[in-house]
Amino acid sequence: MLLAVIDLETFRIVQRMLKANRTAGDGTQQHQHYLKGSLFCGHCGAKMALTHSKGCTKIYSCVYCLGRNKNRTECARGAIGIYKVEEAFEHLYRDDFRFNDAWLADTHEAIRNHSELTQTLNVKEVARQERRFQSLDNERRKPLQAYYADAVPADLMREDKNGSPANKPPPRGRSNPAPPSTNR
Ligand SMILES: [Zn+2]
Repeated sequence: MLLAVIDLETFRIVQRMLKANRTAGDGTQQHQHYLKGSLFCGHCGAKMALTHSKGCTKIYSCVYCLGRNKNRTECARGAIGIYKVEEAFEHLYRDDFRFNDAWLADTHEAIRNHSELTQTLNVKEVARQERRFQSLDNERRKPLQAYYADAVPADLMREDKNGSPANKPPPRGRSNPAPPSTNR
């Protein structure tokens, strides 16, 4: 569904301008075709090119042999309307085209192998990224460790590691009575 982002009259004017440009053939129109680049001449094997010519009311699209066009081959094949090629493709895929059983089995095998390989690689990659994350996290903690190493005296660190301060002399200043409270 189209949303009405412009009013109907503006839409019509734009449509008229686009149509006028099309008939003037200003070259801005792109003629892409799904068979473009995929067709080869059945007579000489050269690549087929796509061309468009303007008729009175519509544009005609044809394919022609580049071997003949560039005098690269002795080909005598004339141009063919693209609609004929399209019809031939439709018939081929609808009536004649079947996947060969051996090809299907090979393809299944190739897909399975590829998917197993991808999975293995993914597991390895996840493990690699986890190690990387751990290493970065360790790096991140280093400044903190360094900070504490400098800020906390070595004897207190040892005391903390041993778990009991009982057999250690009290830190300086601790034995002094607490100063009187200023709130009195
Ligand atoms: Zn040819």
